[in-house]
Amino acid sequence: MPTPVTCSNVSQNSATISLLRRLFGLFRPYWHLSLQALLAIFAIDLFDVASPKVLERLIDQAIPQRDILLLTLLAFLLFAIPVLSGIVGIAKSYLDVALSQHMMHDLRVGIYDRLQQVSLRFYTSQRTGEIISRLTNDINGVEDIVKNTISQMVSNIIKIALVLVLMFSMSIPLTLLCLVLVPFFLFLSRSVGSSFRTTSALRQELLAEVSAHLEQTLTISGALLIKSFGRQQDERTHLTHASKQLVRVQIRQTMRGRWFMLMLHLFFSAVPACIYYLGGRQVIGGTVQLGQLVAFIALQAILFPAFRSLLDIHVSLQTALALFERLFAYLDLPLEINEESGAVELSEVQGHIRFRHVSFSYHPGRPVLCDIDVEIQPGQLVALVGPSGAGKTTTTYLLPRLYDVEEGAVEIDGHDVRSLALASLAHHIGIVPQETYLLHTTVRENILYGHPEATEEEMVTAAQAACIHERILELPQGYDTVVGPRGYLLSGGEKQRIAIARVLLKNPRILILDEATSSLDTHAERLIQTALARLQRSRTTIAIAHRLSTVLAADQILVLDQGRIVERGTHTDLISLGGLYAYLYKEQVR
Ligand code: ATP
Repeated sequence: MPTPVTCSNVSQNSATISLLRRLFGLFRPYWHLSLQALLAIFAIDLFDVASPKVLERLIDQAIPQRDILLLTLLAFLLFAIPVLSGIVGIAKSYLDVALSQHMMHDLRVGIYDRLQQVSLRFYTSQRTGEIISRLTNDINGVEDIVKNTISQMVSNIIKIALVLVLMFSMSIPLTLLCLVLVPFFLFLSRSVGSSFRTTSALRQELLAEVSAHLEQTLTISGALLIKSFGRQQDERTHLTHASKQLVRVQIRQTMRGRWFMLMLHLFFSAVPACIYYLGGRQVIGGTVQLGQLVAFIALQAILFPAFRSLLDIHVSLQTALALFERLFAYLDLPLEINEESGAVELSEVQGHIRFRHVSFSYHPGRPVLCDIDVEIQPGQLVALVGPSGAGKTTTTYLLPRLYDVEEGAVEIDGHDVRSLALASLAHHIGIVPQETYLLHTTVRENILYGHPEATEEEMVTAAQAACIHERILELPQGYDTVVGPRGYLLSGGEKQRIAIARVLLKNPRILILDEATSSLDTHAERLIQTALARLQRSRTTIAIAHRLSTVLAADQILVLDQGRIVERGTHTDLISLGGLYAYLYKEQVR
């Protein structure tokens, strides 16, 4: 029974067509390779269908006419054709792998680029393992799709067209008999295909779930958390649950495919038997020559596997579409933080900062910052204080455009940050976050990350100013010591000082400082304070202050509460005001 045409069918079909169009668009940059692959496929298919015709002439002409020369020539062709086909096959394998690898590279880099451009909002809503899974599991699936699914689909279409032309030219009734049940199988493969697409999407989601779980639990921090809370069994159960679901989905998908294959097999066995019977009768009746029947049977032996493979490929194509849908979803991630055309490149920055009546929310209708209005003069130190969750970190995010304001504007030297080139903005702002992130590489590379072209001398000077040089020299390989994943070989205070050296080397005019809350011993604390004091010298600094010393030295203290500036002034002003700041200060002193 034909499927009723509904609105959802129509929209699903048009979505599939645009998805296919986009998928084939990935071949465009490699059109010359694609064209060569197409020619190779055509040549191989031509070789395949040529053999039965050679056979026909051999049986119906060369043998009855006792033509030894023709017999020799045809016998040689029967040998030469597979040899040539094999040689072209090697070229095609090269083209397939080159095409698939180029496309995988483009997708990998394209998605990576997109992920670099999306705002922090994306990373706060996605698990790292899920992202990694898309860049690995999903992209790896592309190779099989290009090498097998698409290549075989094209090959089978060409082969079927060539074979049908020859078969129709030999016997129309027998050809029609071959084709009689094909529409039924087309319909069947369509419905199996769409269920494959669903299970395939589910399988990729489960793979991502497993990857995300592994990523969360098999890092140093994850392992530490699990061990310290004794949650090994729970984590194992979580993994087992997802992994078992994966097993079920995989078995379901494979078995559904097998039943479909069995039905195809029955069909493809029944039709040749009919042809042998009817064609045999025609040979006995003298209306068809034996060589022609042999050639016809040889051709149908090519036709049916090609049909079968094409129907099978229709099913795999659905799997491929599910995979590409996931990849394209990442390529299409909305870019919140865009660079205006003609954005301003700032070569010099004075460091004048202005927050003009800024409001912001992470989720619509739930404001995190309301009407923040602040002016910071070049070289000033401004401290942000306030209870946890007041919006201090969020305020600092708006300056380097990690997020954009919802209302108002943030300006640097009179320029709205949204009008500045993103690279130039990043160049002039240095951030020392509360949690130091070090790359799993040498101390040297970690410090040079701030300014890769810096000389050895400049790097050492930065490390000295950050009070970490002596400590680095004590490490087994000095500056060439690998710091371990996330810098786990170093203490919290040491990592922080390396982060300070990194920013010192970058030498930005504006500094955002999120002081670490973890308490350090007096010596480490003093080293950090010295490093920070050197870092802040002659820069405009916005410091999220957890230490009293920063607050005392600040030119301006902004007290935030529930996203609003409730008090502002110097330490002395605010103490005499006797409000929230005075309360927080007394609490800290106590
Ligand atoms: P703390 O001193 O504890 O670091 P804070 O003053 O720096 O706090 P913010 O980190 O700016 O506060 O957070 C302000 C509010 O925004 C909090 O209620 C927090 O839960 C919320 N928030 C922070 N980041 C996000 C996010 N990515 N998505 C949604 N809400 C967020």
